[in-house]
Amino acid sequence: MKKVICSIPGVDKVLSLPPLISLLETHPRPTVLAAVRNVLAALRVDSVDGKLAAALDESQLCGLIVTELEQIVAPALHPVVNGTGVVVHTNLGRSLLAKSACRQMLEVAERYSNLEMDMATGERGERYVHVESLLCELTGAEAALVVNNNAAAVLLALSGIAAGKEVVVSRGELVEIGGSFRIPDVMRLSGGILKEVGTTNRTHLKDYQTAISPETALLLKVHTSNFSVVGFTAEVSIDQLVRCGREADIPVMADIGSGSLLDLSRYGITGETPVQEYLKAGVDIVTCSGDKMLGGPQAGIILGKRSFVAKLRKEQLLRAVRIDKLTLAALEATLRLYRDEREAVAEIPTLRMLTLQPAALKAKAAAWIRRLRAKIPASVSLTVVAGDSQVGGGSLPLLDLPTFLMAISVEGWSPQGIDAAFRERKIPVLGRIQKGQYLLDLRTLQDADIPALVDAMSIFP
Ligand SMILES: *Cc1c(COP(=O)(O)O)cnc(C)c1O
Repeated sequence: MKKVICSIPGVDKVLSLPPLISLLETHPRPTVLAAVRNVLAALRVDSVDGKLAAALDESQLCGLIVTELEQIVAPALHPVVNGTGVVVHTNLGRSLLAKSACRQMLEVAERYSNLEMDMATGERGERYVHVESLLCELTGAEAALVVNNNAAAVLLALSGIAAGKEVVVSRGELVEIGGSFRIPDVMRLSGGILKEVGTTNRTHLKDYQTAISPETALLLKVHTSNFSVVGFTAEVSIDQLVRCGREADIPVMADIGSGSLLDLSRYGITGETPVQEYLKAGVDIVTCSGDKMLGGPQAGIILGKRSFVAKLRKEQLLRAVRIDKLTLAALEATLRLYRDEREAVAEIPTLRMLTLQPAALKAKAAAWIRRLRAKIPASVSLTVVAGDSQVGGGSLPLLDLPTFLMAISVEGWSPQGIDAAFRERKIPVLGRIQKGQYLLDLRTLQDADIPALVDAMSIFP
């Protein structure tokens, strides 16, 4: 016989229920207690004068507590299925790491390493050396330094080279990157003095030339990353800016944001100048992210002339923005893959996804539908539709990558309803709604996502 609960029981009463006693055998008491308190508190909110609006039986109450406990013990940071088609999705963790990068990270995590010891002398070494020669080999830079992220790289470079002095930047490049990285604010934080030149849409060489004074420490070019000014526009090319800097004996820095190490135009990804081109043009300091189009871990990469990198290496600030050993391991392994372009494109997930061609995506769509069909309710209709994916990460905002998507529809479910229900799963599924359809982009779906998709679709009748 079911015992119906009409008013909210006390904690001790609940803890003495048999299902709770067995929970206490497998979980620490404070954790179970927290789950009980959370559930009782929620019931109190829903009740009037301590009386439950809808009567609950004991097993329902215990069910709520078990669900709450599962949520409490589950990791707060967990995988999700990215069906949005945005490859470098900033809110979903940007780049996925290559298998070799994951392995290297684990290796260094589980064992001691030569992080800061020079094995030849047995003396203290520097963590930065592990990737410096590789970065120089791949990019042609004289010297390299890596830090926590590109925001830190820009801050360190500005503060090391231009504190108390003027930095000339075009008004068309005073960008804000998502998550509050704003050039004027970073400049203030670094101690550099922002000297804006030109206008939002047009900046000319003479704007830079007339701005240069004895107070000038740096000419800075910032990649506009996540926006584009179109129409009546003019900007000074990197070659012109380098020449201008040389004439005035002032260094030139470029914050290039995404930082592609490959020329991806042969794969249909045009508009991103590879890092190497900036260095070849003679830029003194280049900074970029490790986890945007480079496809590595979160990191900031500083490349350039030996004298400037050496100066930054001595900055106190470097200690505060230093790269962590796991990141370093993942970055090194990722960079190694770049020694062979084919290997890089095949093994680095970001590059693999970006370079997927429409025919392959169409075949993937058909194969996935076959695989899913056998495991999901018959009420779910899956069809293939054509569309576009985005690079993301504030890179190439105008570029559409042709793709194929899976449209999911179920009688009686709106696309918004599917979206909301999918986001609530233990492994949430994120898609997009377009023209009244709920869509998952095959470009960003991973083989490991199949069970989570099957689980999400199990909600349908
Ligand atoms: C993304 C970006 C940054 C910030 O890089 P993080 O690695 O996210 O810190 C800075 N500048 C530009 C131009 C960017 O595109």
